Amino acid sequence: MELNKLTAHQLKDLIAKKEVKVEEVTKAYIDRVKSIDDKTGAFLYLAEEEAINHSKLLDEKISKNENLNALSGIPVGIKDNISVTGMQNTCASKILLGYKSPYDAHVIEKIKKADGIIIGKLNMDEFAMGSSTENSAFKLARNPWNLETVPGGSSGGSAAAVAACEAPLSLGTDTGGSVRQPASLCGVVGLKPTYGRVSRSGVVAFGSTLDQVGTFGKDVEDCALLTQCIAGMDSKDFTTADIPVDNYKDSLQKDLKGKKIGIPKEFFKEGLDDGVRKAVEEAIKVLEENGAEVKPCSLPLAEYGLSAYYVIACAEASSNLARFDGIRYGHRTKDPKDSIDIYFKSRSEGFGDEVKRRIMLGTYVLSAGYYDAYYKKALKVRNLIKQDFQRVFKEFDAIVSPTSPTTAFKIGERKEDILAMYLSDIYTVPVNVAGVPAISVPCGFSNGLPVGLQIIGDYFKEDTLFNVAYSYEQSTKWHNMLADL
Ligand code: GLN
Repeated sequence: MELNKLTAHQLKDLIAKKEVKVEEVTKAYIDRVKSIDDKTGAFLYLAEEEAINHSKLLDEKISKNENLNALSGIPVGIKDNISVTGMQNTCASKILLGYKSPYDAHVIEKIKKADGIIIGKLNMDEFAMGSSTENSAFKLARNPWNLETVPGGSSGGSAAAVAACEAPLSLGTDTGGSVRQPASLCGVVGLKPTYGRVSRSGVVAFGSTLDQVGTFGKDVEDCALLTQCIAGMDSKDFTTADIPVDNYKDSLQKDLKGKKIGIPKEFFKEGLDDGVRKAVEEAIKVLEENGAEVKPCSLPLAEYGLSAYYVIACAEASSNLARFDGIRYGHRTKDPKDSIDIYFKSRSEGFGDEVKRRIMLGTYVLSAGYYDAYYKKALKVRNLIKQDFQRVFKEFDAIVSPTSPTTAFKIGERKEDILAMYLSDIYTVPVNVAGVPAISVPCGFSNGLPVGLQIIGDYFKEDTLFNVAYSYEQSTKWHNMLADL
């Protein structure tokens, strides 16, 4: 049996029945990473010793007939912007090289309490800025379905690790699409929860009013399992909501009778690849066959989502990244003349081009003379986009669209064409701007590369997303397909 090809819920059953040891499972994944990660570039740090030690402790618990908690010894890969005690947290930036987290992020505390095993830290675009993982300061990540193409981004390592069977589950962060877009490009499931559903404490901030931690798995059940573990209120993040977390397992139903699904016409305009369009249209038919009532709907302001996003995200990033000054964390320039020189040179040497571009843009839109024209206007647009979604959710339970307008693109293809790169998030960004939840599920292939279906839900209705996604998945075969690596 190839343990690393199984889903987390299958592994959980085997461990519960004592058919495999936690250590065997962990070793299978560590071996896989060692043999394949040269190709995928998904891992920045493999936590071999820590993971094996943790597995042994859990096996001991099991041998004493103690039951394990929800994640029962299943390895979880973590994006390298989420703090894990004693491990690096570089955000794939040279400025944080050598920095180790002194504490666990809230989501990591929860994973550890659930008996999940942290298997390593995963590659990403520097400070989560990008859509291809090409902005990692350390190495390229590659799409397991075609190593000449990108895995998407910014959580490209998290998606590639699951798609290449290097981890059954992983965490990413999604500020504008960074969980859903790589999930779509790598043919795995990825969820961005409602803003406020999951704590951001211990997660390096990019755009604080947009960031959410999201989950990856090979199928919807796995994604629901990990989301269940990390969701909920946290006193250390005052934006988390005091709203009970549903039991997501109950939502894994095939029947969609009574569910109303809206298809936003604005998400099917020019720029959408023919192959992607076809796969998504086929998927919509499946939802109808499973009992959903499908009707067109309109989100007229969504097209301004990308412009508003780049103003708001850059503004927040310019402020959040001010703390990386060469004094407190990571890289400090050699032989500075004075304290200003420390800031100036450490930041110039430590940050990559895309990060610098965004800090400059953000500083500009927040500056006294331009604040009203850009930042304040973007906030107004944001409100209108929210209202658009609220209006549609009065009538519909879910909205369905492509996750990304194209499949995985070639490495290097969009590196110099910034606008083309930004456009890969055109369907995912409005979701963050409004703060609603959305999931991407595999819905077929175009030219041999995976296509993702995005299902968007109302605030805190992750249960509806799991229901619709599961229903679709159970009627199709895509989630059972693995990249041949
Ligand atoms: N690709 C988008 C950006 O570059 C979204 C990134 C994200 O969600 N972290 O900002």
